[in-house]
Amino acid sequence: MTLTTRFAPSPTGPLHLGHAYSALLAYDMAMAAGGRFLLRIEDIDQTRCHPKWEIQLLDDLNWLSVHWEGAPMRQSDRLGAYRSALDSLWQRELIYPCHCTRRDIAAAAAAPQEGAALLGPDGLIYPGTCRNRVIKPYGDGPRPEGVALRLNMSLAAAISCDHHVTGPGATDWHIGFDETGAGTDGETGDITMSRDGLEKEIGDVVLSRRDFPGSYHLSVVLDDAAQGITHVVRGQDLFEATKIHVVLQRLLGLPTPTYHHHRLIRDDQGKRLAKRDDARAISKYRAEGASPQDIRKMVGLV
Ligand code: GLU
Repeated sequence: MTLTTRFAPSPTGPLHLGHAYSALLAYDMAMAAGGRFLLRIEDIDQTRCHPKWEIQLLDDLNWLSVHWEGAPMRQSDRLGAYRSALDSLWQRELIYPCHCTRRDIAAAAAAPQEGAALLGPDGLIYPGTCRNRVIKPYGDGPRPEGVALRLNMSLAAAISCDHHVTGPGATDWHIGFDETGAGTDGETGDITMSRDGLEKEIGDVVLSRRDFPGSYHLSVVLDDAAQGITHVVRGQDLFEATKIHVVLQRLLGLPTPTYHHHRLIRDDQGKRLAKRDDARAISKYRAEGASPQDIRKMVGLV
C-alpha cells in the first residue's frame, strides 16, 4: 500500500510555525517513502473559517514547497457522507440527541455527588444527562436534525473493544503508533485504552453539532478513510482524540491508519502556538525576508 499522508488545516487564522512544522513533517514522510501527500480543508466551522485564510494558507504551503496531489478535499463538500454515517449510527442507537448547553453540563458536572469535574479531549466530560432520558427503541424513527447528537461511549466502547480483542485482558486494546519520525522524541509505543477508560476519561462526545451534520471527530475519521490516508501526522494535542477516532473506525468498519503525534511548537513562554499567534505567522516571516529553509531551521527540521 502506498504510504499516504495529509495536512488538514482549518482556515480560521494565519498558518503559523506549528502548522508549517506539521505540514513539512507529513510532506517529508510521504516524499521519503515515495508516497502521496494530500491536502484537506477542514472548514466545518463556518462561523470561524474565512476564504482569505484559505488563500493565504495555500500560498504559504506553496512557498514552503509543500506540494499536494490533486484538488484539496473540502469538508463542506462532504455533508452527504457525514449524514449517512450519522444515519447508520442512529439506526444502531449508538448516538442520541442532546439538548444540554455548556452551562447545563458545567452545572451537572459540578453537582456535589459527581465529585471533581473531569476534563476529556473536548472539555468537561459529559455527565450523561440526555443519555439517561432516551427511551429505547428509537433507531427506527427519523434521525433528528438541528440538535446535537452524542456518541453513547459505553455502548461504543463495548462494541469496539470486544469485537477486536480476544484472549486474556480482552477489554484493553492497543493502537500501534510510530513516534520515530524526524523532529519527535523518538518514542515508539502503543496507545492503550480500556472500556472503562473510554467511558470515564472521554465519555459521550458530540458527533453531530446542532448547526452542522457532523463534528471534528466524525468528519476527520470519514475523510481520512475516503482519502486513503495510511499515516496521520499531527500534533500531540490530538493524542487523546485519537482514541475516539479509533472507536469510530471500529464502529464504522474503517481502517485505522498509523498515527504519528509530533511535539508541539511553543512560544517563548512555553505555550502552544494558537491561531491568534500572528507573531509567528509564516506570512510575517515571509514579509521579513525569511526563506523556506529558515522556516525549516526554526522548527528544527534541518
Ligand atoms: N483541522 C485540525 C487543525 O487545524 C487538524 C486535525 C487533524 O490533523 O486531524 O488543528
